[in-house]
Amino acid sequence: MNKIEHIGIAVKNMEASNALFESLLGEGPYKTELVLSEGVKTSFFKTGPNKIELLEAQSPDSPIAKFIEKKGEGIHHIAFAVDDIEKEIKRLKDLGFKFVQETPKKGADQKRIVFLHPKSTNGVLIELCEDMEG
Ligand code: ZN
Repeated sequence: MNKIEHIGIAVKNMEASNALFESLLGEGPYKTELVLSEGVKTSFFKTGPNKIELLEAQSPDSPIAKFIEKKGEGIHHIAFAVDDIEKEIKRLKDLGFKFVQETPKKGADQKRIVFLHPKSTNGVLIELCEDMEG
């Protein structure tokens, strides 16, 4: 794994949270994007070399809606950048890690992504992401 690609934060109200993070970081989001595969709206902020992703549910059965219902707003996942997502999935599976789903899908920000199951990672939802632009 290369680096932490971004930290995902579940929010109830994207507009209010965009304003909050703009005040906090001194700059607005550089992009917002609907991710149909996850039923979420996302917005991305930069702080130096790091990124923050805000996630807002688009329907009550979205994973983000369920997360907020159970745990409230807050840190939802940590994403790691990888060069070859299939290779990382295999490496981690061989080590006994469990995945939410094992086939990469299209995530926000031009990435192919998978999630490890938090039960096998100390309760932390881990995302692996591979840049689709190469
Ligand atoms: Zn993410």
